[in-house]
Amino acid sequence: MGATGQQKSVVGAGTHYQRWRVHGDPLVTNKRPNGAGFMANGYIGYQINGVKKFEHVMVAERALGRELPPGAVVHHVNEDRADNRPTNLVICPDRAYHNLIHARMDALAACGNADWRKCRVCQQYDALGNLRVYQTKAGSMAYWHHNCAKKRKNNARTA
Ligand SMILES: [Zn+2]
Ligand SMILES: [Zn+2]
Repeated sequence: MGATGQQKSVVGAGTHYQRWRVHGDPLVTNKRPNGAGFMANGYIGYQINGVKKFEHVMVAERALGRELPPGAVVHHVNEDRADNRPTNLVICPDRAYHNLIHARMDALAACGNADWRKCRVCQQYDALGNLRVYQTKAGSMAYWHHNCAKKRKNNARTA
C-alpha cells in the first residue's frame, strides 16, 4: 500500500529505521490490554482458561450473540487493529469479502472512487468497464487494461 518509495531502502535501511522510530509504527497504538492481555501484530488478545483469543473476536461475538461462523474475518473500519469498539468492527463472512472491503478502501483513497480497480500493468486506477478481470491462482482478482496486457505480451516477445 503506497510503499513504492520504501522498497529501495536496502542501502539506507538505518535511516529508514530511525525515521520509523520517530514517527512510530502505525500498527502500534497507545492502547494496551488490561491485566492478562497480550499484543500480537497490533491486535489485543487475552488468554482465558489457557485459550488465546483476540479482543476484536470477543467483541464481535458478543455483538453477534454467538461464536463467529467458521471462516469469518473481523475488519477494523479505521484500520487501527487495537480499536475494538463495536462501531469499529465489521464481521465479514469470509476472506474474499474482507479483501473486497480493502480493495474498495484502497481504491477510494487512491483515486476517489471505491468501485475502480488498479491495472496490474500500468498501475492506474480505472472503471471496471475499462478493465479485464482475471482470477489469480491464489483466488484473488487481478485487473488489466486490454491494451496494457497486449503491450506486455509484445514486449515479452521482443525482449
Ligand atoms: Zn480489514
Ligand atoms: Zn493499464
